[in-house]
Amino acid sequence: MTLQKKPQRTQRAQRFPEKNPVNPSASSEHVRAIRGLFQKTQKINPQMKTVFFHFHGYLAELLRDAGEKKPFVCSFQEAQSVKHLIESAGIPHTEAGAILASGQPVDFNYLAQDGERIDVFPVTAVPSQLPSLQPPPPRPIRFLLDNHLGKLARRLRLLGCDVLYPRNHLTDAALAQLAHDEQRIMLTRDRGLLMRKLIVHGRLLRSKNTEEQVRDVLQRYNLYDEISPWQRCLQCNGRLHPIPKAAVLDRLEPKTKRYYNDFQMCEDCGQIYWRGSHFAKLEEWLAQVLRSIPE
Ligand SMILES: [Zn+2]
Repeated sequence: MTLQKKPQRTQRAQRFPEKNPVNPSASSEHVRAIRGLFQKTQKINPQMKTVFFHFHGYLAELLRDAGEKKPFVCSFQEAQSVKHLIESAGIPHTEAGAILASGQPVDFNYLAQDGERIDVFPVTAVPSQLPSLQPPPPRPIRFLLDNHLGKLARRLRLLGCDVLYPRNHLTDAALAQLAHDEQRIMLTRDRGLLMRKLIVHGRLLRSKNTEEQVRDVLQRYNLYDEISPWQRCLQCNGRLHPIPKAAVLDRLEPKTKRYYNDFQMCEDCGQIYWRGSHFAKLEEWLAQVLRSIPE
């Protein structure tokens, strides 16, 4: 290894591994040389094992230190699974779609080896030649939403999705147990919740914007062909069924009675739905969603 000139420390730390990815066939001298380089620049304890993570796509934005440069250097003493190391970097396992260790595909249980390069690809961009580490979502697809995602719950229900949104605030432990027991996909903005062992299926919502969250969920689970509006109660997730006007007449306001004839009722909570003014706004929103579906 020769360095032609003496660049600034931070530049050396960033550039060298990019051009010289560590691999198991590399000589121990080579690995020692790389570690020595990082020890000078990033204060790595020589007693510890070190791996060099390359997080691809949006995963790089999820690193705990947003200003972290490539590669993400991770040091540890005891043998560690790659899943543990990825999550300690701030990335829930639900977001990792494929992992290469020294160029070879591995699963989450793989024990990271000293000095190697580990590539992690996001669940939405798994290279075609690699198997996805994420199990297929349980069918039919059903969601569990974290606290404070009430608007997303109503939007997804409007599209026909089965969405459980507990009325009372639940702890992370209770949510994880519920997702596990009911085989539901956990949707949350809380990374810690997705890192719980009980969570098998989940999605980290990176946006705070409900419309972007809806698009993300539709894309991630490819739900475009399953959109079936006005099948579920926006309040409680119960199924809606047509009901004769005569059966609900005593519950209608005078103007509703006069102008509307078609009604639906939630089989669980009894909420009545009809095509009133609020309906028009939701229909416009639906039209926007349908227009945004990729060809
Ligand atoms: Zn209902």
